[in-house]
Amino acid sequence: MTDCIFCRIAAGAIPADIVYQDDDVVAFRDIHPVAPVHLLIVPRKHVANLLELAGHPDGVSLAQAVLRAVPRVAAAAGVDQTGFRLINNCGEDGGQTISHVHFHLIGGRSLGEKLL
Ligand code: AMP
Ligand code: ZN
Repeated sequence: MTDCIFCRIAAGAIPADIVYQDDDVVAFRDIHPVAPVHLLIVPRKHVANLLELAGHPDGVSLAQAVLRAVPRVAAAAGVDQTGFRLINNCGEDGGQTISHVHFHLIGGRSLGEKLL
């Protein structure tokens, strides 16, 4: 079994609070939430980061699967009417700490502190 924590969560090998899953994607609650709703949307396939996803032979279909999951995840978390922010941290300067590409879906309160 891989030692990638998100691969292990996607495989059900370690527990997570999963709010949505399909054949390609799993979404679960971040263990250190920065907002009332803080989910991670993760492709099941191990790809290290957004740049690798873009260059991967299955990258477009994986990105499509993530995009298709967004409204379903937002609805499952109850933020489809109120809005949310979708964030990818890529690489060292992007602050990425887990090398399995993931998208933070954050909401459940007004997110005032915009970077841009
Ligand atoms: P990033 O810093 O963008 O790589 O995001 C990694 C995120 O994964 C952080 O917000 C962590 O709190 C979160 N995280 C790490 N381990 C787990 C876990 N076992 N279950 C849920 N979230 C996790
Ligand atoms: Zn992985």
